[in-house]
Amino acid sequence: MRDVLISGGGVAGASLAILLGRAGLSVELLERARFPREKPCGEGLMPAGVAALRRLGVDGAVQGAPFYGIRYHFGRQIAEGSFPAQNSRPALGMGLRRLHFDQALFRIAAETPGVEAHEGVRVEVPVIENGRVVGVMVEGQVRRARLVVAADGVHSALRHALGLERAPRRRRLGACIHFRLAEGRRQPPWVDVFVERGHELYVTPLPQNELLVAALTDAGSYAGPLESRLRLWCMQQPELAERLEGAEQLTEMSGMHPLSGKALRGYAPGIVLHGDAAGFLDPITGGGMTQALMCSELLAASILRHPIGSDAWMPEFERRREAMLSDYRAITRALLWLADHPALGKKVLVTLRSAPALFSHFLGVAGGVRRLLGPLPLPS
Ligand SMILES: Cc1cc2nc3c(=O)[nH]c(=O)nc-3n(C[C@H](O)[C@H](O)[C@H](O)COP(=O)(O)OP(=O)(O)OC[C@H]3O[C@@H](n4cnc5c(N)ncnc54)[C@H](O)[C@@H]3O)c2cc1C
Repeated sequence: MRDVLISGGGVAGASLAILLGRAGLSVELLERARFPREKPCGEGLMPAGVAALRRLGVDGAVQGAPFYGIRYHFGRQIAEGSFPAQNSRPALGMGLRRLHFDQALFRIAAETPGVEAHEGVRVEVPVIENGRVVGVMVEGQVRRARLVVAADGVHSALRHALGLERAPRRRRLGACIHFRLAEGRRQPPWVDVFVERGHELYVTPLPQNELLVAALTDAGSYAGPLESRLRLWCMQQPELAERLEGAEQLTEMSGMHPLSGKALRGYAPGIVLHGDAAGFLDPITGGGMTQALMCSELLAASILRHPIGSDAWMPEFERRREAMLSDYRAITRALLWLADHPALGKKVLVTLRSAPALFSHFLGVAGGVRRLLGPLPLPS
């Protein structure tokens, strides 16, 4: 029997498999899709995520376009905030194409000794014996493991089957399109966020002069097809419209709905929810991949500190995970609220523009390298 079975080979599942395989555990990693595959995402990896990739030793296998921080546009007001410096060096985020990044991470996991990885395999339901998850069903066959990890994304089938699902209050949706800029045009090294009443646009620099435009909005808040609406929103931002002049559209629009997913609890006997499956509030602060990578480190350390097959460590792990993500969630809620109240959002932006250190501090919290209160940076 395997030590750990992971359902879902995205950022959370693949990074956890790498850590556990390297530590000598036997791991089965099952992924429904076949790589390369697109994943609707803003594709901005925050500085703490970049540092986590470095610690994982896979940064060399990932191509990214660096960015220094975020530029918020509320109407005609613009404020540019840099991530706070780490060890006297500017902290950088990285724009990366999920098409390539997820494939690279999955391949590294598949090549890790102790990891057996399969693509094109859909995990159906958990197998429960005496009140404990002991494996999963795949194509009518039972696959057993001492521990199951549900890393199957924001709409986690395992979370649903276990009755751990909590309905999200808000029904937001996201849509993404990739472009290659025309010769001579460059995407500046910032993620641009355009906040308008009813929607936000994210523009992320990517390698090879590509860029991603992602829109977040409430379901039912616009008329007509979303793709034409997204194009219209781009054209309504003069700076963005100019940047996109002559650009080649590289992908069809891909979308996701709803954006958030909630769990009643992040674990049950024999199983831990991980990454978006454990709950995801909203991509407005762009930290989902970073959180997945950081939580993989925490989860791997927790698993490795205890006898495999014991569940006693799970409540403590959950407490530590919640503590690690609490600041991030607070800042996400605050930003969602400001996006709903753009007049106030503009005022906050003007204030932050005149207080760059405070602005940078908040971006450090969103980027996973600062605590909201307290001077200490998070370990990097
Ligand atoms: C519009 C949008 C914009 C975003 N912008 C950003 C951003 O800029 N920066 C950022 O860091 N994050 C962003 N996020 C969030 C980020 O995409 C997620 O937080 C991140 O992908 C979570 O990783 P994960 O591995 O938990 O889930 P996923 O990446 O979703 O991976 C889950 C995997 O599980 C597989 N799977 C699902 N069901 C099964 C099954 N039954 N059996 C087997 N496999 C299964 C899926 O195919 C998938 O590969 C954004 C999200 C959205 C929707």
